[in-house]
Amino acid sequence: MIAIDGSQGEGGGQVLRSALALSLVTGKPFKITNIRARRKRPGLMRQHLTAVRAATEVGQARVTGALLGSRELTFEPENLRPGESQFAVGTAGSASLVLQTVLPALLCASGPSVLRLEGGTHNPWAPPFDFLAKTFLPLINRIGPTVDATLVRPGFYPAGGGEFRVTITPAVRLAPLELLERGRIKRISATAKVAHLPRTIAERELRVIGRKLGLSDRDLVVEEIADSRGPGNIVTIEVECEHVTEVFTGFGERQVAAENVAKKVAEDARRFLSKDVAVGEYLTDQLLMPLGLAGVGAFRTLGLSRHAQTNMEVIKSFLDIRFEIDRDCPPGVVVRASPLPPA
Ligand code: AMP
Repeated sequence: MIAIDGSQGEGGGQVLRSALALSLVTGKPFKITNIRARRKRPGLMRQHLTAVRAATEVGQARVTGALLGSRELTFEPENLRPGESQFAVGTAGSASLVLQTVLPALLCASGPSVLRLEGGTHNPWAPPFDFLAKTFLPLINRIGPTVDATLVRPGFYPAGGGEFRVTITPAVRLAPLELLERGRIKRISATAKVAHLPRTIAERELRVIGRKLGLSDRDLVVEEIADSRGPGNIVTIEVECEHVTEVFTGFGERQVAAENVAKKVAEDARRFLSKDVAVGEYLTDQLLMPLGLAGVGAFRTLGLSRHAQTNMEVIKSFLDIRFEIDRDCPPGVVVRASPLPPA
C-alpha cells in the first residue's frame, strides 16, 4: 500500500484529492496520514468527504477513516465504474474539487460518464466553474477525451446550492499536451456577476478593471444572476489567446471593497500578460495531472507554486514519471514530463 503523508509540502486538500484520483487511475491502494495537516482546520471537511465518497463510488473501493474530521484514511479501489452519478457536497464546499478527484480516472475509463455535481460552483480556493469550462476542460479535450460541462445554477459561499453537469467521453489513451506558446492574444474581457446584490458592485469592479487593463466598454460585461440560492459576487478576467484561454477570478467578500477585489484580479491578469507564457499559477497546478497521466508533455508557465510542487510529489508516488523544471529558457519556466527510464 502506498504511504502518503498529508502534511508534505503545502499540506492541503490537494494531496488527498490527487492521491484518490491516482489510486483510481492505477488501481493502487494507499494510506494517507496527517490529512490537511497544514490547514487551519485539519482533517476531512465535508467537501473532502464528498470527494472520498465520489472516489469510493467510482472505484467500488474499500475505505476506512471516511469521517468528518478524520486525519487518516485507507483507500483500496476494486473496479473502475463509469456511468451516471450524482455527488452533492451538501454545503457551499466546492463541487469542482469533487470533479477534480474523479475526472482523471473517467478520462480513460471503459465507457462514458454523466456526472451531476452539487455544492459551491464559484468558491475561493477552488477552480470556479468558468475556469473549468473555458480554461481547463478545453485543454483536456485537446488530448483525446470529450468533456462538456454545463452550469445548471451557480452556488456561492455561504449558501451553496449550485449545480453543474459534466459528460465525459473517454479516450483509449491520452495524447501528450504541448503548451509552450500561448500565441496571439485574441481578446481580453471581464465579466462581473452579482447574485441578489446591487448591480453597482459589478459596475465598480469593471470600472477598475477597465482602467487597469485598458479595456473598452464592449469588453466589460455585467451579469445579474437571479437563480442562485444565496447572494454572491465574482469578477472574471478572460484572456483568450490562440492556444489557451486563461481565466482569472476575484471573489467578492463582505468587508472588502469591490475596487479591491477588482484590483487584485487585475494584478493577477497583468502578471500573466507581463510574460509571454501560456499557463498561469492555478492552471499549472491542474495541468500536472494530465501531463502525468499522458506520461509525456510540456508547458510554459509563470512559475511553480509550493502547491504545484507538492502535487508533483504526490503524482510521482503513483506514476513512473519524472518532471523536469527548466528555468533557463525564458520567458517563465518550462515543465516537462517524461517516463522514468526502466530500473
Ligand atoms: P487546495 O487548496 O489544496 O484544496 O487546492 C485548491 C485547488 O483549487 C488547486 O487545484 C488550485 O489550482 C485550484 N484553484 C484555487 N483557486 C483557483 C482559481 N482562482 N482559479 C482556478 N483554480 C483555482
